[in-house]
Amino acid sequence: MLNVLFAGRPARWPEFELPLLEACRGAGLDVTISPEMPPEEVDYIVYAATGPVQDFTPYTRAKAVLNLWAGVEKVVGNPTLKIPLTRMVDEGLERGMVEWVTGHVLRHHLGMDRHIVNPDHIWHDHVPPLAPDRPVSILGLGTLGSACAASLVRLGFPVTGWSRSPKVLEGITCVSGPEGLDEALRTGEITVLLLPNTPATQNTINAETLARMPRGAVVINAGRGELIDDAALIAALDSGQLGHATLDVFREEPLPEEHPFWAHPRVTVTPHVAADTRPESASRVVAENIRRSEAGEELLYLVNRDAGY
Ligand code: NAP
Repeated sequence: MLNVLFAGRPARWPEFELPLLEACRGAGLDVTISPEMPPEEVDYIVYAATGPVQDFTPYTRAKAVLNLWAGVEKVVGNPTLKIPLTRMVDEGLERGMVEWVTGHVLRHHLGMDRHIVNPDHIWHDHVPPLAPDRPVSILGLGTLGSACAASLVRLGFPVTGWSRSPKVLEGITCVSGPEGLDEALRTGEITVLLLPNTPATQNTINAETLARMPRGAVVINAGRGELIDDAALIAALDSGQLGHATLDVFREEPLPEEHPFWAHPRVTVTPHVAADTRPESASRVVAENIRRSEAGEELLYLVNRDAGY
């Protein structure tokens, strides 16, 4: 019998209880799963940074921390964490992100706003270009970025994707390094951020990089708030260098009422809803990793603690 601690946000336990149990049974595992158990009896920790566990020291026999989120910045540097850490790669999360990013890219590409909010009944007859004439850049070409890129390529958008290591992905102009970032910034009329929050990615979007974008470009941030220098973004919007920013993630969440993003006419705020972990599919990933660990196999989606993601 294995003891699995659910150390996610307590409010989510009712959603996860049955899917986790069923997925573990489906993987042939004999488990007890609970949000409360003596730390020294825990074998695996199903984790979220907003959950109750911040100090891993008392979990003396735990074999792995299985993060329910794709982003790990709040746990990766935890000095009490001495066991393997995995992050979430979940088909539900991926599908959600593809839908959210594709929807927001299409909104800006088609200029939908001018027809949806048109109190003066203006006959806006400007015809938007077709997708092949609208270059899109995606900063971060991992699980989520590459899935979004593939969706946009299927719609006909020319997509440039930037990653840390060089990549080859069909239909996507893959770039890396400082020259690659320059190419992505200069070409993207719409730039989507799907980078993790690490020391190397913070403030990737700043006054200097914003100035390299085509005038009137759109930034869509579904990665993390720390990727953007907020003041520089607002200055670029006010000067017209940036046409619009659609932001799902923020340095402080919920976004404080007094933050200028709320009131800015060319900022769209969505409340960190681009992609959520889905209990059914995520539970299968958790169960598979416990099975692998017990079988002595390598865990899926291990976090590179040095790189921070
Ligand atoms: P991932 O698979 O780890 O991909 C991260 C990508 O960023 C990789 O392509 C990686 O390059 C690239 N990267 C990392 N550091 C870089 C650097 N210094 N320079 C250039 N590229 C760099 O992560 P994912 O699953 O796609 O998730 C991405 C992020 O989305 C998460 O970390 C999380 O913050 C965010 N997220 C947000 C939501 C939401 O609801 N808004 C939901 C889920 C996730 P390599 O390919 O070379 O490693």
